[in-house]
Amino acid sequence: MDFQSRLEHKGLTRRDFLKAVAAVTAALGFPVVYEPRIAAAVEKAAGKPAVIWLEGQDCTGCSESLLASVNPGPTEIILDLLSVRYHETIMAASGQVAENWLDENIKQGGYLLIVEGSIPTADDRFLTIGGRPFKAILQAAAAKAAAIVPIGACACYGGIPAAGPTGAKGVQDIIKDKPIINLPGCPVKPNWLLGTVLHYLILNKVPELDSNKRPLAYFGTLLHDNCPRRGHYEKGEFLTDWNDPGQKEFCLLLRGCKGPKTFTDCAQNWWNDGVNFCINASSPCAGCTQPEFYAAGPMDTRVGLAPLYLRTDTMNLPGVGGVNPETVGKVVAGAAVVGAGVHLVGNVLTGRLKQDKGDKGGREQ
Ligand code: SF4
Ligand code: SF4
Repeated sequence: MDFQSRLEHKGLTRRDFLKAVAAVTAALGFPVVYEPRIAAAVEKAAGKPAVIWLEGQDCTGCSESLLASVNPGPTEIILDLLSVRYHETIMAASGQVAENWLDENIKQGGYLLIVEGSIPTADDRFLTIGGRPFKAILQAAAAKAAAIVPIGACACYGGIPAAGPTGAKGVQDIIKDKPIINLPGCPVKPNWLLGTVLHYLILNKVPELDSNKRPLAYFGTLLHDNCPRRGHYEKGEFLTDWNDPGQKEFCLLLRGCKGPKTFTDCAQNWWNDGVNFCINASSPCAGCTQPEFYAAGPMDTRVGLAPLYLRTDTMNLPGVGGVNPETVGKVVAGAAVVGAGVHLVGNVLTGRLKQDKGDKGGREQ
């Protein structure tokens, strides 16, 4: 099917397509001059086996994040036009027909392999598809892929399943000989995937990554440094009582916010085409883009960011010693009065001035 026929098949005009390209170009922060290149890259990729999408131990939340929408937005239109050859949740085929189709497309090679969900390693029987262990399917698909894009916390680093009994691992723990671009999050943000896919299609190379294999363009800044509540943090104003309207805008550190240890552009580029993001909706950041997100439990060897809404660690303040998290607000305010400076004290209590074993993130300052 040629590109024009694909557009018509999806009820789109060429004008709709170009409008979507313009919106996506702006949303991703590409210059306007990139519009024709993006349009050409999508047109060229459509109809080829551009993408194979596997699902391991997942909740399908990342697929939902990308595809579920009442009115398809520009991101969804572009992703839909890219040729996704295999995706269990949205493809019409099922059973052996679907598995044969996967094998046929793997043989052609050269595709981007998107992986959603973690890989069980404790026992292959934790996840089989069509009688084959998921790990074997991943290895076969990875062997002929041009590059692999694990999406969501589970596929990147094990995520929530890693806290359970299946020995859940991320793709990078299984596949060692292919370029891997991790796009974590719980779920992944649509712009991260679209921007990465377009970058790869246009430039034919992997974007600049941090030590956790995350694109620096999206994960190169610390959430805490761009947070709209940062002013309250600097003043030592921490939310302790959800029912007090006077504290509504206060810093969420004492309610378990992991922003000081989380690398993401969530504060600069809000979710759902700029509608909102966790902290602005009064939900502490859970650190879902970090490798140690939700690390907890006896089976989990990662240094964790759980529990999600509590700080359990004692904070060591200079000249003060160990401080109970529930009283740290008063201590910070007192320290400011005696001249220690809230910013300095705050940096210490959030761990930014000392080596953090669990964080090898982006451009930490
Ligand atoms: S601790 Fe959380 S809520 Fe407070 S300023 Fe940092 S990122 Fe924002
Ligand atoms: S603000 Fe934190 S928890 Fe929310 S999506 Fe961003 S990284 Fe994840």
